[in-house]
Amino acid sequence: MINLTVTQKWLRCTECQGEFKLDSIYTGCPACDKEGRSGALEVCYDIGRLSSKITKSWLREWGGSIWKYADLLPVCDTSFCSTLGEGFTPLVREPYFEKEFGFGNIYLKNEASNPTWSHKDRLNAVLVSKAKELNAKGIAASSTGNHGISAAAYAALNDLPCIVFFPPETSTSYLRLAGLYGAQAFVTPWEKRGELLQKLVFEENWTPSYPFVEGGISNPYGVEGYKTIAYELIAQLDDTPDAILAPVSEGNALTGIHKGFQEMLELGVIDRIPRLYGCVPRGANALERSFERQDDKVMTLEDSYSIATSTREKTAGVHVLRLLHASKGRAVSVTDDAIIRMMQILGKRGYCVETASALPAACLEQLMEKGEIKPEEKVVCLVTSTGIKWPDLLAEMAPPPQRIEGTWESFIGAKR
Ligand SMILES: [Zn+2]
Repeated sequence: MINLTVTQKWLRCTECQGEFKLDSIYTGCPACDKEGRSGALEVCYDIGRLSSKITKSWLREWGGSIWKYADLLPVCDTSFCSTLGEGFTPLVREPYFEKEFGFGNIYLKNEASNPTWSHKDRLNAVLVSKAKELNAKGIAASSTGNHGISAAAYAALNDLPCIVFFPPETSTSYLRLAGLYGAQAFVTPWEKRGELLQKLVFEENWTPSYPFVEGGISNPYGVEGYKTIAYELIAQLDDTPDAILAPVSEGNALTGIHKGFQEMLELGVIDRIPRLYGCVPRGANALERSFERQDDKVMTLEDSYSIATSTREKTAGVHVLRLLHASKGRAVSVTDDAIIRMMQILGKRGYCVETASALPAACLEQLMEKGEIKPEEKVVCLVTSTGIKWPDLLAEMAPPPQRIEGTWESFIGAKR
């Protein structure tokens, strides 16, 4: 017997409003494409049917995996909802910001607790499950690390082959993990990854796990997984946060979070949307520059660099620019030095975060100093992944262990 979710689900173009059935459409809106434009597709639900089921108290019930929210995710036959136990990550108040700045409601949403230690598991749980339902041949990804290993793990779970293109800067840990999960990992020059991914999708019919089309959402299903962060935050705070800070590469995580809050607003579970802040490194701040100039799309930098590899893209999608304006947040950037400093501060608080994951907390200090965040506000910084995947960087940041002869005297002589 096929077990189906109760909601009707379909795709809609954010530009021409054209509607399509949930299918293997990975190059944007076909109607816009015919007119020579590009239009992103997003998944729609007749959520009115869920208004009696989805309440704040229902949200507060423990779910075990993101498939608790299957009615609001794009898989139709629930037998395809595959899980490694992603989601339901800790939300912890961090006293550092109270002690240093007098801001007592700053929380870290620790996505490093996911099965492959990053928020990407929410995306890939949905994307790969949907791909399996649509009878995919295999999963193909271009990644700087987290996305690739997450795609590999969920492809393995679904018995699908997986190919991942990584840039030369990729930490060895990611390359080994991709192999462990049974994916074929390729290291290629940075700019070649997209070309190879496109050819694999167009010529061999593989399913793309983003990024695929520059500056837009190419796979409309994965981003839906990020909505569950919004659902969890409402439950964990028993309130709507005032602001959320998240690192931005393409902008899909913030897009999903924004959509999740919008759905809960539509269902009457909450009565407002938090301000969303897109955090980028100073050396790759196309989003910030375009936001400040009030551009209607994100500029492309000639060159970009940051130690926060996963956020050093030259551009971002127009969808993230729009949601920053719509939520009354903005884009904000900090230097690589500020990122490293925040990694060290959080390390001394018991968190091992990767470079991109230190961005939100580092940007938060700037917003506090400028008065854009108020001391009484509830603010969430999204910790997207762990620093443990970067052993070489950890070796540079942390003091080495002391090697001693093993006598009491040698120990006492070296002890701090
Ligand atoms: Zn369209």
